[in-house]
Amino acid sequence: MTSARPSPAPSTPSPGAPPPLRARLAVTVGRSVATVSRALHLGSGSVIGGRAALVVDPRLLRDLTAGRDVVIVSATNGKTTTTRLIAAALAGDRPVVSNATGANMTAGIVAALGGAASDATAVLEVDERWVAGVLQATSAGTVVLLNLSRDQLDRTQEVRKLAEAWRTCLSATPPATVIANADDPLVVWAAQAAPSVIWVATGQDWRADAAGCPQCAGRISFTGAAWRCTDCDLARPEPSVSVEDAAIAIADDRVAIAMRLPGRVNIVNAAFALATATSLGVPTPIAVTGLESVEEVAGRYRVTSLAGRPVRLLLAKNPAGWHEAIELLADPPAPVVVAINARIADGHDPSWLWDVDFERLRSRFVVATGERRHDLAVRLRYADVEHATADTIDEALRVAMGRPEHTAGRPVDIAANYTAFQEYFERVGGSR
Ligand SMILES: [Zn+2]
Repeated sequence: MTSARPSPAPSTPSPGAPPPLRARLAVTVGRSVATVSRALHLGSGSVIGGRAALVVDPRLLRDLTAGRDVVIVSATNGKTTTTRLIAAALAGDRPVVSNATGANMTAGIVAALGGAASDATAVLEVDERWVAGVLQATSAGTVVLLNLSRDQLDRTQEVRKLAEAWRTCLSATPPATVIANADDPLVVWAAQAAPSVIWVATGQDWRADAAGCPQCAGRISFTGAAWRCTDCDLARPEPSVSVEDAAIAIADDRVAIAMRLPGRVNIVNAAFALATATSLGVPTPIAVTGLESVEEVAGRYRVTSLAGRPVRLLLAKNPAGWHEAIELLADPPAPVVVAINARIADGHDPSWLWDVDFERLRSRFVVATGERRHDLAVRLRYADVEHATADTIDEALRVAMGRPEHTAGRPVDIAANYTAFQEYFERVGGSR
């Protein structure tokens, strides 16, 4: 049986065209709700405003991204920083809109897009569980996939399920370009479904979440930088982008870069950003200038003053994230404060603390704080790390700064998981 009524032709708005009336109304409603939320001191209001806007126009994400260049960035770790770096790399070349505060589900994304110029490229951090939905709604031309590891044990889906969902959506709605981590077997398996992939060698050495092959459940064998499944054809693809000390090798070029963000991990994030920018036609020098201008990301890495004391805030949420955060700490023997909560946004189950290599803190004194400081203290005791517990961050800083290894005037590093970080960030004047 055939329908007598032809289906309407899909609308293909021209680049720069304003969104439809319903979308504009939805944006106005969202803004009003956000304004009320801010007036009541309930936070920035972007997420609740976004939710209200989506009630008015459930197709709002599609409407607000139609006709634009869209870049989706997802991962377990590093997505907020890499999104910020990509936005910075593009900003010298074109208008950009981005969900810079890390509100990375649909409501936060539409809130960010609501005020954007219609020709701005959208650089969107997307929660790893929402990639399929956002890709389908936006038909993004570029998808950047950094890594997948365990996070929030009681909330997030098992990582292989996430990799499978990524693989399925990349095959169903193939973006023109995927930029993906060649050293993460889960990411490689997912990204291989896309027709065109730029592989980035990250030198990632966190392998605890990738011992089993996502394709055949066989065993992944790692030999130096290379890896391959011992039972099927899944193997490390040949990367075309890599990091060499303070330079990024891309195509036949070697691009020196002086990042203000600390650590090798951020040069790797910059490599993803540079690959994204050049694939969109941004001249390398313009992209590099943007990358070198970023000195903090939503409070992360910020040197500030908390309880009248100089501190630097670092965020780490899961074993793979802590693996990298420990590398970023001030050189030993500087004492550090480690803060752990276990609220909904952190995941209620803190047993992941046993998968963090806290043994690497043995050469320094650690002050454990946050609601789960006693769980952390037990972990530190088994790791043979000298430590104390403190009921409040103020007391923790007092203890750390009273240690003989502390250098007067130097900031104390506070490494915190999600809600602990947000609490301190708000105290120093940041907002969600
Ligand atoms: Zn296999």
